[in-house]
Amino acid sequence: MNANDRIVPPVPQTPPAAATEEIALYEVRRKIYPRAVSGIFARWRWAIVIATQLLFYGLPWLHWNGRQAVLLDIAARKFYIFGLVLWPQDVIYLAILLILAAYSLFLFTAIAGRLWCGYACPQTVYTEIFLWIERKIEGDRVARIRLDGGAFSLEKLVVKTLKHTAWFAVALWTGYTFVGYFTPIQDLGIRAITWQLGPWEAFWVLFYGFATYGNAGFMREQVCKYMCPYARFQSVMFDKDTLVIAYDGKRGEPRGPRSRKADLESAGLGACVDCGICVQVCPTGIDIRKGLQYECIGCAACIDGCDQVMDNMGYPRGLIRYVSENGLARGYDLKAMIRHVFRARTLIYTGLLVVITVVAGASLARKNPLKVDVIRDRGALAREAAPGVVENVYRLQIMNTAEQAHRFTITADGLPGLKVVGVDQPVEVAGASTQLVPLRLQAPAGDDEHEDRHEGRDGRDADRRSRKVELVIQAQDDPAMVRREDSTFLFPRQP
Ligand code: SF4
Ligand code: SF4
Repeated sequence: MNANDRIVPPVPQTPPAAATEEIALYEVRRKIYPRAVSGIFARWRWAIVIATQLLFYGLPWLHWNGRQAVLLDIAARKFYIFGLVLWPQDVIYLAILLILAAYSLFLFTAIAGRLWCGYACPQTVYTEIFLWIERKIEGDRVARIRLDGGAFSLEKLVVKTLKHTAWFAVALWTGYTFVGYFTPIQDLGIRAITWQLGPWEAFWVLFYGFATYGNAGFMREQVCKYMCPYARFQSVMFDKDTLVIAYDGKRGEPRGPRSRKADLESAGLGACVDCGICVQVCPTGIDIRKGLQYECIGCAACIDGCDQVMDNMGYPRGLIRYVSENGLARGYDLKAMIRHVFRARTLIYTGLLVVITVVAGASLARKNPLKVDVIRDRGALAREAAPGVVENVYRLQIMNTAEQAHRFTITADGLPGLKVVGVDQPVEVAGASTQLVPLRLQAPAGDDEHEDRHEGRDGRDADRRSRKVELVIQAQDDPAMVRREDSTFLFPRQP
């Protein structure tokens, strides 16, 4: 090997600049300026916005039986919903409500995809309201793009200040209304005006208001795209007969501009004029012509936008429409599409919804507003109150969940000569309240011949003779308001 044959280590080469590509971890947000659209689905959306907001903002101001009609009083652990008062013991109804909400979501999603997202989800509803304010103050899409792209000016400052003030007012009122469901709203208003809000009330008003302001004013479609879990798992609820918003590629392609009078066949064109209106009206900025995408919230704005274009061109409507995958592939008409709504999955969901609703409704209608807990006083066991008379001590917790006060009589069954003493009868319990009633039961000492052996868990009551007794609590003015509670009566051990 001579000197010229030396092995020279390779010199690391810097790749040319064009070959290095930096891939961002997160997509840079492109601000979306949705264009205003009118049409049948926009009217539906607005009808639902108005209905849900009348309900949300109006409900806490309604009165019922001299109190706020809907009040979720967490401090007192009572939920008032018109004539209904729910206590912690009624938590089963909350569970049923959640189950009903889940099944309704499954059902509506199986029938027509993201109906909830497109029309009734608070994120959609408040974004719609905030967008409406934005359009009224800043103008429609083009004006807003121009304003944001333009240099700073006094006019821009005034317009932006006006918009944010209006947004802030709506957001604050929303936060105030939200807290008004948990604390009496009128009182809350008075204390807010006089700067006497408690720290938690002030926090929740501002927190909920700030969340509304941020989510509806700034985050918008990002909440649906990145934060909402429903968008990610909704596809498991879809099948080939689920109605989704889809572009009819067979009819639309090849797309391209043309004059209104152009003959489509001779020009070799489909119905899509490639105007981009469907993209401009989309609140998530997607192109539905690329197929179903998880970003699509099912708002149907693109249907309204495209229908207007079809009308202008003199083409039939429905190039973008509600259609199922099967419907698109097999060319179902409206009747066939509706027939496929009634399939096994939707019928099972509907059946379950009906059964749960009927059972829960019947249980609510038959709900006994009287609840009772009997606690035997473990400290004061059986004792002889008088010669030949045995006495046991109890505490009775009477819960009157009705709105009106009731007077209750307390009697006892299970032993001959058993009587209730030590309590003034009838016992009056105010509406929606609990009363603790200490009382004593007395029975003749000779009535313990047919004893049951009572094995106490801690062994203290072992060998003590016990008998089952029943306490009967009955409202004087309502025969249906009665509770029979089992307990035990102990006789002292014979020496
Ligand atoms: S609005 Fe209709 S015609 Fe216009 S680009 Fe979209 S699909 Fe095509
Ligand atoms: S693609 Fe159409 S339905 Fe989906 S979010 Fe956009 S405008 Fe709404």
